[in-house]
Amino acid sequence: MNTINDPNVSPETQMLHAPYSSKDAYGALNMPVYQAVAYEFDTAAQMEAAFTGKSPEHVYSRVSNPTVQYFEQRVKALTGADEVMAFNSGMAAIANTLMAVAYTGANIVTSPHLFGNTYSLIAFTLKDFGVEPRFCNLSDPAAAEKHIDRNTCAVFLETITNPQMEVADLQVLSDICKKRHVPLIADTTIVPFTAFRAAAFGVDIEVVSSTKYISGGATSLGGLTLDYGSYDWQQSPKLHTLTGQPGLSAFAAKMRREIYRNLGACMTPDVAARQLTGLETVAVRYERAAVTCRALAARVAQLDGVVSVNYPALEGHPYYAVSRRQFGDYPGAMFTFDLVSRAAAFRFIDRLQLIRRATNLFDNKTLAIHPASTIFGTFSEALRQSMDVSSNTIRISVGLENMEDLYNDFVQAMRM
Ligand SMILES: *Cc1c(COP(=O)(O)O)cnc(C)c1O
Repeated sequence: MNTINDPNVSPETQMLHAPYSSKDAYGALNMPVYQAVAYEFDTAAQMEAAFTGKSPEHVYSRVSNPTVQYFEQRVKALTGADEVMAFNSGMAAIANTLMAVAYTGANIVTSPHLFGNTYSLIAFTLKDFGVEPRFCNLSDPAAAEKHIDRNTCAVFLETITNPQMEVADLQVLSDICKKRHVPLIADTTIVPFTAFRAAAFGVDIEVVSSTKYISGGATSLGGLTLDYGSYDWQQSPKLHTLTGQPGLSAFAAKMRREIYRNLGACMTPDVAARQLTGLETVAVRYERAAVTCRALAARVAQLDGVVSVNYPALEGHPYYAVSRRQFGDYPGAMFTFDLVSRAAAFRFIDRLQLIRRATNLFDNKTLAIHPASTIFGTFSEALRQSMDVSSNTIRISVGLENMEDLYNDFVQAMRM
């Protein structure tokens, strides 16, 4: 078993060689899929120790599983997070995380520019349990701060909103959150943690849909919650009683010992094995897709008939400066563009020959979708308008194809 304890070895390398938590019986080089529900013990005393958390053995795979745990440990090695929990979808990671911090009478301060199901979770599902949604403009931090009060259990945001492509200033928001003793929770799905270090910008809890970049070619649904240990849970009206336990933050204790096992949205071992393989290549795949995305967005902006292109790395973008500060040259591998009308957008999508008509983000294949009629298709026109989802907008998730081939598909689909 290989163990790297050298702090000079980079996180990418550490991640690839992270040791298993105990030696594999056959010395398998890749983590096997432990397709097992329950684990056997030699004695009643050993069972008691494992079930009460005094020894680290697995007992039941809804609580923990060796393959899933290894996926979590690799993400930990890569990101430096204190605690990583893997779920069976991005939505499960978000729902479990918010349920760990929220309580009846609490409020969540967030933007209306959210992934559709996250919006619905906060606006409807959690609201039914007495958690008040407070939607505001998070790219105006001073205005956002006015929505925070002593019952605010979290400020929640997406690092680049979709399809609006809004980028909030994380450092400024984090300073406000620290001053007001509120945890900052960010969905960082759009730029993977190999390219963007959320903790360096003051994010306390990171949530990710690993369905996207990490799964590696849209093989499986998955989600991650990362706790960086930066929030003082003594300040939380709900979780302060759980502080002071060795090795686990109050948040991690609540999640691991209660929410994760009670809601049962655990990642399965077959998915963990796939996503372990995806994790090994995510940095290089992302680099390729992001470079193509940036070049393609710039060229599409010059095409006749394209009204506007929305990608934060293009000069003149309203969030160009903050995006550059946070994400460098490549703010994700997704852009949107507007045509003159909904009919023109439908015509363009129907004419595509190479780019696939599908939802999802960060497959190896490039995907096109008309968000207003699909992802937001069951929302009222008024709600779509309040979320700035225009019916003239098309979203492109850029994959690993040759850039010229993708551009040529745009050219032929745009011709009148
Ligand atoms: C896809 C996505 C989700 C939901 O993830 P699932 O794995 O589909 O449940 C949440 N947030 C963002 C930003 C996403 O793109």
